[in-house]
Amino acid sequence: MIIGVPKERREAEARVAATPDTVRRYVKDGHRVLVERGAGAGAAIADGDFEAAGAELVEGAEPLYAQAQVVLKVQRPLDEEMAWLRAGQVLVGMLDPYMHREQLATYAERRVTAFALELLPRTTRAQAMDVLSSQANVAGYRAMLEAMAAYRRVVPMMMTAAGTIAAAKVFVIGAGVAGLQAIATARRMGAVVTATDVRPAAKQEIESLGAKFVGFIPEDAATAGGYARPLTPEEQQKQREVLAEHIASQDIVVTTAQVPGRQAPRIVTAEMVRSMKAGAVILDMAVETGGNVEGSRPGETVELDGVAILGPRNLPSRIAPTSSQLYARNLYNFLQLLLKKDAEAVAIDTDDELVAATLLTRDGEIVHEKFRG
Ligand code: NAD
Repeated sequence: MIIGVPKERREAEARVAATPDTVRRYVKDGHRVLVERGAGAGAAIADGDFEAAGAELVEGAEPLYAQAQVVLKVQRPLDEEMAWLRAGQVLVGMLDPYMHREQLATYAERRVTAFALELLPRTTRAQAMDVLSSQANVAGYRAMLEAMAAYRRVVPMMMTAAGTIAAAKVFVIGAGVAGLQAIATARRMGAVVTATDVRPAAKQEIESLGAKFVGFIPEDAATAGGYARPLTPEEQQKQREVLAEHIASQDIVVTTAQVPGRQAPRIVTAEMVRSMKAGAVILDMAVETGGNVEGSRPGETVELDGVAILGPRNLPSRIAPTSSQLYARNLYNFLQLLLKKDAEAVAIDTDDELVAATLLTRDGEIVHEKFRG
């Protein structure tokens, strides 16, 4: 099979869908890998490293799309790339189908076989391909570092001849994959760490990382899939009452709360922000899905009474060498479901639940049950 890895073309996207490690693996499995020249630049991978791993460098994306049977992407293609897609071509990436349903019709029209990796179930078998987890993990780490860098005081306790500096107080809201990594990162830096979530399992995980749980767990707040459900207005009110006093005493707050398929819950109000000391920092990781913090804006830092509210976009891209390394391995593991050794065509077994869960379009039709019709 011929596998193609174009350079990502969306604004501020530094990741790449393959690394020399995965190229080596594909080649060993009997495939050819075409990499667009410069594709790895944002992830600190030189063209020569791809070449040394067995990839063939291609000048520009159009000839790459013209030859590749399988195209590996990080983000969904731009319109110009859509025009290069060919009938029978397999496209794999984070295609964001809920937010961009219109693109599915184009994949179908162009008779592309498209897979959206975000739709993988969060099961044990899918763990090695779970792009949401791998990217949230590094994003949580990076979020904590960025919040700490914006905080102009010292984070760990320091006892010096000139006096003692108290450790910074860090509060993490939402302890899923990203939140737990943010907690672990803050602990390593010597902060006094507290965290909250609405799922009982998350409370235990917070405590197992050596942080203290603060907040309240509403009844049946976890769904069968292990996610949080939206809180009722009464529960939200109760949560605000419990958190308001705590937030007022914090130096750094990192928020990561999400409810799948919905706007992120609004948890930190402007009043809570104002209650914090001047110089405090809030980082809203949910800023791109509506925001956990009143006043946060995607891609901007907003100041409110001396408190900085950071709303960074695409955190995984800011740590592209690492996030690409993990993403590329997720993709390689996923492709094991489709590429049989030395085979000349992709095998699509819709009886496999991981294939069925991610397959959007095939043979000119939208086949995914969530997006059909
Ligand atoms: P997510 O991104 O959907 O949400 C982030 C966190 O926000 C979650 O912990 C959620 O409970 C929390 N949250 C939602 N509303 C909240 C509110 N109002 N107040 C406070 N917190 C709120 O979650 P995620 O990181 O994708 O992980 C979700 C679950 O999936 C977790 O239970 C995780 O352990 C599980 N998971 C399992 C596997 C696996 O077994 N293979 C892999 C990945 C994740």
